[in-house]
Amino acid sequence: MTENNRLRVAMQKSGRLSDDSKELFERCGIKVRYHEQRLLAAAENMPIEFLRVRDDDIPGLVMDGVVDLGIIGENVLEETLLTRKSQGDPTEFRMLKRFDFGGCRLSIAIPRDEEWQGLESLNGKRIATSYPQLLKRCFEAKGLTFRPCLLTGSVEVAPRAGLADAICDLVSTGATLEANGLKEVEVIYRSKACLIARKDEMDAEKEDLVKRLLVRMQGVARARECKYIMLHAPKEKLGEITKLLPGAEHPTILPLTGDDSRVALHMVSSESLFWETMEKVKALGASSILVLPIEKMME
Ligand code: ATP
Ligand code: MG
Repeated sequence: MTENNRLRVAMQKSGRLSDDSKELFERCGIKVRYHEQRLLAAAENMPIEFLRVRDDDIPGLVMDGVVDLGIIGENVLEETLLTRKSQGDPTEFRMLKRFDFGGCRLSIAIPRDEEWQGLESLNGKRIATSYPQLLKRCFEAKGLTFRPCLLTGSVEVAPRAGLADAICDLVSTGATLEANGLKEVEVIYRSKACLIARKDEMDAEKEDLVKRLLVRMQGVARARECKYIMLHAPKEKLGEITKLLPGAEHPTILPLTGDDSRVALHMVSSESLFWETMEKVKALGASSILVLPIEKMME
């Protein structure tokens, strides 16, 4: 791949997805120095460049084939899809991966002291949102209508300011709603960050690079879930102990110098070990129990 044929990846410049997106590529071993003022950042050790933009622009850049890959919240992806469909713009892309970051839900919220009587009670009412298409789809599915009040930020102040009867906005903890005297009454969409690619096949080298990246991303996710467990155990209790450990079908068993009755057990567990499990393992005679994080993993 030549210098000017780099794999182009769009990511959010600054916001809720940018730190996790940067960290993901860093964990995949890609070295990049981001400059605050620059839109493009080239990786130092791979033919990849990052286009840093507002998240709303990412799905369109992928669907228009301007970039090869994009990291985006499914909420923005879905909203853009619906908008572009209604305008007759290209909407094709490939979904490559769903991540475990950027989790949030798109919810309807109403003033705290109002009683909630279902979505029907908002029929024909004014709702403030940045996601008119997703909201419309939800209302239309129930044969209802609403009047949109389009706001790209500060949606949660709309009811208090007399701009709308309710809002439809992203929520993760609910603290912002609470602080603005609102309560969440209905979730209309659940979202996580995802990796999308442009629809048309890239050249063989780029496709190959994407495959390598996906393997590394899988490794990053697996390493986060898994733990390396080491312990010493009495030989006759090995069966019972391994039954308690998640994913321990084939542990490594090593002899202990000067102790024939006990062995060392090493294994990669498919999840973290709870204190309760460690207590049970200890009660079976295990000692020197260590649970270590795994940095990288390739299966
Ligand atoms: P930009 O300036 O890039 O347009 P933005 O203000 O539209 O940024 P952010 O608030 O940074 O967007 O959120 C980006 C994405 O992060 C959201 O679209 C959503 O997928 C995800 N997200 C996760 N948790 C939350 C949350 N509590 N509130 C809003 N978005 C969240
Ligand atoms: Mg945005």
